[in-house]
Amino acid sequence: MTTITLVQGDITRQTADAIVNAANSSLLGGGGVDGAIHRRGGPAILAECRKLRAGHYGKGLPTGQAVATTAGDLDARWVIHTVGPRFVHGEDRSALLASCYRESLRVADELGARTVAFPAVSAGIYGWPMDDAARIAVETVRATETAVEEVRFVLFDQPAYEAFAAQLG
Ligand code: ADP
Repeated sequence: MTTITLVQGDITRQTADAIVNAANSSLLGGGGVDGAIHRRGGPAILAECRKLRAGHYGKGLPTGQAVATTAGDLDARWVIHTVGPRFVHGEDRSALLASCYRESLRVADELGARTVAFPAVSAGIYGWPMDDAARIAVETVRATETAVEEVRFVLFDQPAYEAFAAQLG
């Protein structure tokens, strides 16, 4: 049974087995959560990302997929990098956003992670409306079979927290 919890705060300050990064396909860093994770986590994470790019993910990590690295100086064992879809008006990309949560939990299960902290994937630079991002996040986690015991959504600000709280009901 997976418990869903909500926290307002900075995901890089969380203690969890795995922290999910709203990465971009390059895996080589960016803004938002990605920038914060690499800043606080230190160079070890980027070094592993570079190895992934030199190996299996030569063309980058496809949207909707997830891959793990160590967590450097973060208070976690792993960072699970996932690439959310950009929001595009008139296009339904919600299956790709759902896939981010499902694939991250699949990777978490492979690792044996029991607590996983997620940001609101795609709801920042990638422009996804927060209410819809929250709905997809909560519905997908609820529908996913996983051994993860706690999924913690870590929301940066009050409106994001409230959007997720509304979905949890
Ligand atoms: P994306 O490119 O997938 O949209 P972003 O990192 O730009 O990813 O934003 C995803 C969400 O994470 C946004 O709601 C943003 O406000 C939030 N966010 C940004 N920095 C942090 C952080 N350090 N901890 C938690 N959430 C964060």
